[in-house]
Amino acid sequence: HLEERVPTNEIPELNRLAQSFNRMAKDLEGVEQRRRELVGDLTHELRTPLTVLEGYLEGLGDGTIDPSVDIYQRLAKETTRLRNLVNDLQELSKAEAGYLPINLQSFNLYPLLSSLVQKFSDQLLDDNPSLTLDCPQNLPLVLADPERVEQVLVNLIGNALRYTLQGRVTLRAWSTTTQLWVAVEDTGQGIAPEELPHVFERFWRSDRSRDRHSGGTGIGLAISQRLVELQNGVIQAESELGKGSTFQFSLPIAPQSSFIAAIAKR
Ligand code: ADP
Repeated sequence: HLEERVPTNEIPELNRLAQSFNRMAKDLEGVEQRRRELVGDLTHELRTPLTVLEGYLEGLGDGTIDPSVDIYQRLAKETTRLRNLVNDLQELSKAEAGYLPINLQSFNLYPLLSSLVQKFSDQLLDDNPSLTLDCPQNLPLVLADPERVEQVLVNLIGNALRYTLQGRVTLRAWSTTTQLWVAVEDTGQGIAPEELPHVFERFWRSDRSRDRHSGGTGIGLAISQRLVELQNGVIQAESELGKGSTFQFSLPIAPQSSFIAAIAKR
């Protein structure tokens, strides 16, 4: 049994063997623990939309709820929630198992940033919150996967807009000699200091976000973190409750570009 560790003893080879066995046993316990946690979290997340769907269907079936456009819209909303959850989960499990194909290539991020700002702005009503891009066009090239970077940006911009009822969302990008940084800054509801360390955990959602039924799944940031790491970058969050949040991530500058950037800085 995994609990019963192999005892170490005086013979050095056996001692080393026992230590490496104990390490392996500990790793396996960790995997098993994470699997149990995932199944527990998942059950919890699936139960809510399923209970709502069951309630409506039962009411429609026995005639206590009248069929109306509103009821069908609610049913459709819960079904979409389940669909999003399943899609996000599939993506997360692939990312955690390292099965997501990442096609690194050198490219300029500016066109992607500006087309995303355009696309999201087109969907905003009355420019509220406002969405703007604040960055130079001649950014150094990054070595990353354009599709995966877009996935991260869609998640961060989507969150910023969702958690900023009124105010501003600004996209910025700047470079150091080896990294390009992108920040999504908002003036929205913000995150409390004690909550901030949890934002990248899968299924974690602040109570305020749950209350408002914002339709999120609590998995987007966990996927974004894995995607950024798979592209050799880091992702960070800063926030002040009631003032707003900034999520920023780095990507390595493509070798040729970083050489030119270093020369230009001399
Ligand atoms: P969700 O689908 O719920 O948005 P995420 O993993 O993307 O899931 O985010 C996890 C939680 O982090 C959100 O539910 C919300 O509580 C908080 N959060 C994320 N982005 C922001 C933001 N820009 N402002 C305030 N809270 C945020």
